[in-house]
Amino acid sequence: MTVGIGAGRYAPSPTGDLHLGNLRTALLAWLFARSTGRRFILRFEDLDDRVQPDSADRQIADLASLGLDWDDDVVYQSDRLDLYSRALRQLSDASLTFECFCTRREIHAAASAPHSPPGSYPGTCRNLTEQHRSAKRASGRPPAIRLRTNTDHHRVTDVLHGKFTGPVDDMVLQRGDGTFAYNFVCVIDDAEMQIDQVVRGDDLLTSAPRQAHLGHLLGHEAPTYAHVPLVLGPSGKRLAKRDGAVTMSDIRLPPQRVIGLLSQSLNLTALDNVWPSDLLDQFDPAALPKGPWTYSPEG
Ligand code: GLU
Repeated sequence: MTVGIGAGRYAPSPTGDLHLGNLRTALLAWLFARSTGRRFILRFEDLDDRVQPDSADRQIADLASLGLDWDDDVVYQSDRLDLYSRALRQLSDASLTFECFCTRREIHAAASAPHSPPGSYPGTCRNLTEQHRSAKRASGRPPAIRLRTNTDHHRVTDVLHGKFTGPVDDMVLQRGDGTFAYNFVCVIDDAEMQIDQVVRGDDLLTSAPRQAHLGHLLGHEAPTYAHVPLVLGPSGKRLAKRDGAVTMSDIRLPPQRVIGLLSQSLNLTALDNVWPSDLLDQFDPAALPKGPWTYSPEG
């Protein structure tokens, strides 16, 4: 085992119980971190308005029952608002932010103009004069704060996907209602917590260039990324609660059987019952399946 100096993390949103897809990602994040001697941090991304009371505690209980462990105290983003405000001030002081008064509809209309990458911010408020800004502020709508980027692409390296180049735009750092954006707090946290290995679902691969670019502007080294394949439900869409018995409390299998099921789907073992620590010695990221796993609760 190589002795790492950094840390990996699992960063769920406490919006309900974890399902098998989330648990599989948690298992992989733990294996990536522990097999390389890294610390492992559990961080709740609880700034979202879909957060449910007690959900974080239930997720902690499920993860612990499966034999996953973590270092230090569990981190809640809602306890760290001062850190995010300070980081935003630093970016603003360095002239790397601007106020944006656009509505979603305005952005959508402008972004569908030819040559703009789909969904990207067209730069409408980037160069407003101070008079324009004052007039917009006076109209009553609080502005979002966006990053002033100096590139439109950034390349990251991913253990499973190789080199990946994706679009970067003037992303939102803080919404008009004061909520900090996921892409912003994720980067601030990863840097502050010395996370140098980011393992998460491959639906977030396209967020990595933006996040790495922001980290780069802040002088942080890019982490090692591993965007792992998702679990799909019987409909072929990403597994969800509506697919039936997909959470620990629904499936009622012993934890070592759940780890066995997930590990078999990842080609990590042939055994039916295992604990995560049993998988550490032979864990090899190169042997992981590249595509999604379809799970049918009935079958
Ligand atoms: N909170 C995100 C999720 O639950 C993960 C974000 C991340 O790992 O960067 O999908």
